[in-house]
Amino acid sequence: MLRQHVGHNLVCVMYGDEANVAIECEDCNEVLLDYDNEDVIKQGKKYYDEYEGDDE
Ligand SMILES: [Zn+2]
Repeated sequence: MLRQHVGHNLVCVMYGDEANVAIECEDCNEVLLDYDNEDVIKQGKKYYDEYEGDDE
């Protein structure tokens, strides 16, 4: 799956105050891997909700 991105520009991006970290391919504009940091989500749930807030 990652093979097609060999030679591409891969970046590690953080979302929502470290609640989520993703590896993205800049060339394809595609998220390859992402990890939720559950500790941060629990501690900073409120902040994370605000950060996400596209319901408004
Ligand atoms: Zn790529």
